[in-house]
Amino acid sequence: MTDQNERIFKKRRAMLVEELASKGIRDSRVLQAFDVVPRHRFIDSALSLRAYEDSALPIEMGQTISQPFTVARQTELLEVKEGHKILEIGTGSGYQAAILCEMKATVYSIERHPKLYERSKSILQQLGYRLMQKSGDGTLGWRAYAPYDGIVVTAGAPVVPDNLKQQLAIGGHLVVPVGDEEKQLMVRICRISEDEFKEETFSSFKFVPLIGKQGWQQ
Ligand code: SAH
Repeated sequence: MTDQNERIFKKRRAMLVEELASKGIRDSRVLQAFDVVPRHRFIDSALSLRAYEDSALPIEMGQTISQPFTVARQTELLEVKEGHKILEIGTGSGYQAAILCEMKATVYSIERHPKLYERSKSILQQLGYRLMQKSGDGTLGWRAYAPYDGIVVTAGAPVVPDNLKQQLAIGGHLVVPVGDEEKQLMVRICRISEDEFKEETFSSFKFVPLIGKQGWQQ
């Protein structure tokens, strides 16, 4: 990439940040992260000129990198603070994980497709982001590092996976799109105490399916 291209991308990122703010994203730390993370590096170079459009784009294995507005909204709902332990289900391209790293969270991310796991690991490493990643069924969570201050599911679930609720810290948030295969409502669950949870529902989105033991059948 030439310096000139990098300058163009930087300008487009700044415009995307303005667009996200105009669409209702308020958390300045989320917007700051969008201003820095090079989304064009997480997609095929043939698509790089579209990297800063507010739209989902195809990645490998029939999956997508989520629309920036969706990533921003989910991140905002997580209420990420510096040093929070955040678990992401569905690493995909690695872009959402980079946003979380940029916000100084300690990030854990699980991807079911080994190829996407390898790809995202390599690009995140090249860009200098440090996080824990594994390949497997994220509907089971990642018990070894639980509890988490936040858990974000970036694929559409038929129901809220109970394993994930149980791996939340008290005061922690689980953000998960729940619905049928056509559309899902964004659900946020806050763990109030050991066995009390508060549930809120936000607007509708369309995600690729969450496939696993507590997701859709393969
Ligand atoms: N956060 C991603 C979005 C990728 S799309 C990004 O920023 O690019 C959702 C991803 O969830 C896909 O890569 C899909 O393979 C993955 N996925 C679906 N079911 C899963 C499961 N049970 N465990 C882990 N990953 C899963």
